[in-house]
Parts: sequence; C-alpha cells; structure tokens
Amino acid sequence: MVRVAKSMTRSSLESRPLNHWRYHELLPIEPNEEAFAWPVGWTPIMDAPRLASWAGCRQLRVKDDGRNPTSSFKDRASSVGVLHAIQAKASRIACASTGNAASSLAGYAAMAGIPATIFVPQRAPEPKVAQLLIYGADVRRVRGTYAQAYDLCSAECSKHGWYNRNCAINPYLVEGKKTCGLEIAEQTAGREPDWVVISVGDGCTVAGVAKGLFQMKELGIIGRLPRVLGVQASGMDPVARAFETGDLPKDYSGHTLADSIDVPVPRNWRKAIKYVKATNGAMNRVTDEEITDAMKAAGRLAGIFAEPAAAASIAGVQRAVAEGLIGKGEDVLAVVTGNGLKDIKTAMAIAGQPTEVEPLNPASLREEGT
Ligand SMILES: *Cc1c(COP(=O)(O)O)cnc(C)c1O
Repeated sequence: MVRVAKSMTRSSLESRPLNHWRYHELLPIEPNEEAFAWPVGWTPIMDAPRLASWAGCRQLRVKDDGRNPTSSFKDRASSVGVLHAIQAKASRIACASTGNAASSLAGYAAMAGIPATIFVPQRAPEPKVAQLLIYGADVRRVRGTYAQAYDLCSAECSKHGWYNRNCAINPYLVEGKKTCGLEIAEQTAGREPDWVVISVGDGCTVAGVAKGLFQMKELGIIGRLPRVLGVQASGMDPVARAFETGDLPKDYSGHTLADSIDVPVPRNWRKAIKYVKATNGAMNRVTDEEITDAMKAAGRLAGIFAEPAAAASIAGVQRAVAEGLIGKGEDVLAVVTGNGLKDIKTAMAIAGQPTEVEPLNPASLREEGT
C-alpha cells in the first residue's frame, strides 16, 4: 500500500485512461497493454434530484453500471478474470450461470480471443442466452437445475484444465468488483456520500465495493468512509438473515423476480457481512413490488433503465429512509448494477401499453403533395 500510495495519487490518476485499469496497481494482475484497452468501468455518476424526492433523502446520486460493455456490473470481474486466465495460459475459460456473469464472461473472452464454454440451466432466460451465442460462446444447456450446471462445469474444468470463472471459488473476481468502490471514491472525493447502496445476491459485489472504498480511504484519496447498505429481496434474504444472526438459515428456500439476486445458497456471505459491518453499514430487504416500483421511478424520474436486481438498490434507499435508517438530510449514492434490457419480460409486464392510434390518411397526403 505504501508503494501504491506513491504512484496512485489524486493528481497522477488524472492523466490515466478512463476505465478501471487506471487502478491496475490494486489488481492482482500483470500490466498488459492489449487487455488495458478493453473498455470496462468508469461508469457515470449522475445526480437524480427527482428520484431523491421520491426516495425521501436530501441527495441521491446513481452510478449506472448498466453502461458497461455487456450491460452489467459483472464486467468488472470478468475483465480481470479473463486477463488472469490469459496470464495463467489457460486454453479455455468456463462458468456456470444463468445471467450476467455468463454474458459478461462471453463478451470479454471474445475481446481477448479466448474460447469460452458456458453451462446454463434448462430454464435460463432467452435474452441472456442470445447474448452468449452472439459473443460466440460454446453454450451447453444442462438438462437440470443451476446447481447441476454448476457441478458439471466444475467437473469439466478439472477434467480439461479449463479456467473456472465461478465466483464462489475464484478470488480474482472480488478484486475486479472492487473497482466500483475505487471509482465511487475517486469520482466523489471531497463530496463523498453518507451511504453507498447496492443489491446483494451472492455477496461478492457488496464486499468488493466496500473493499474498494476502504482502500481509497487508506490511500488518502477520500477522507471519509461512506457507510454501505446491502439490499436483498424480502423473498430471498439469506445474507440479510445471516447479517442479523451470524449464520445462514438452514434449508432455506425462497424466490424473487429479480433473477440476478435470486441466490438461495450465497457463497460469499461471510465476506459480505464482514465488509458491510466494517463500514458501520447495514442490510435491509425490499419486496418484489417495491423493486418494480423503483424500476418505474428510476426510468421516469431519472432516465435510468435498471433491471430488477439493479432497481433493488433504489428501492432499498426508499425503504431505508422510511424506516429511519437513512436520515432525510443524508446524501446517498445507489449503484445500478445492470441494464433493464436484460429482462424485457419484467419491464413489459410493469410498464403498461402504448396508445394505439391511426396514421394520417397516406392516400390523401400523396394527393396534397402532387
Ligand atoms: C450479480 C448481480 C448482483 C449481485 O451481486 P452478488 O455478487 O451476487 O451479490 C446484483 N445485480 C446484478 C444486476 C447482478 O448481475
């Protein structure tokens, strides 16, 4: 850290490229010119005053990570994972996922020119499978559940020596996710928010963001550490429960329409809890209805199209203000982790229908024109 503090100062950062590789000293990778040209991160933070009034807090800023190249936060982890796979001389990279982790991995594998095999469960959503196929991944639809796809992926990786991008076992990925916290710190330095709010499924993301904030505090880039609020769906809340009791609930099952945080067996829950507590932070829960309300509010009041798991953070702000956890005078930054086009079915179900109208009479227009 002492060495990094010398090379990474607020002014030296100013001349660096506007992507997350600007923090390469803090990532567990060797510098690589080709990979450092891959776009990733440095997503915009925008002030959303009308959304702040809706949520009930003084200021609400939104960091839109849906603007990453494959439209989700997962690009931070995948870009680091793929670069690490190249440096480990892997012949192929694989993962099991139904959603953003897979499409992101397929995208970065395509940028790097390394083949990817993705194991998806039988019921993987069509738009996300389309994204995989367009990026040219070898997609294997496993006739079974996500857990079975995961087990098959692990077995094939050890059999063939493929590089495994499953978050549960790959420590490089939390380091990639950390860059969101590093960016929040640098982009808000001097005007740090009181709270940073992010949704939680497995727990790897919230842990990474908090770790990034800590490192920037340690480096002196920010003077004050924001508190971190992790938001879960009330129908799928094992990490929120573990936050309260110290352990995961036994034989847990549940469901939320926010597919990217519909994770009954979170693998990074200890790390998540440890980091959130270290920021003097908190966890809360929101219903599926609060999530879809927040999707509409973010679209209408701030021009941000969030997928359900991403809108959960905004719903979590409103809930936290209503419950007095976040003060009405406080300053909040919510991370939107994925773009709403990832889940068109939910968007169409809540958005309403267009108004059907007749065209002007085309025949009469032609007559007038001649
Ligand atoms: C993966 C994901 C999350 C949650 O990240 P975890 O590491 O599983 O906690 C939140 N939102 C979106 C859009 C995601 O893809």
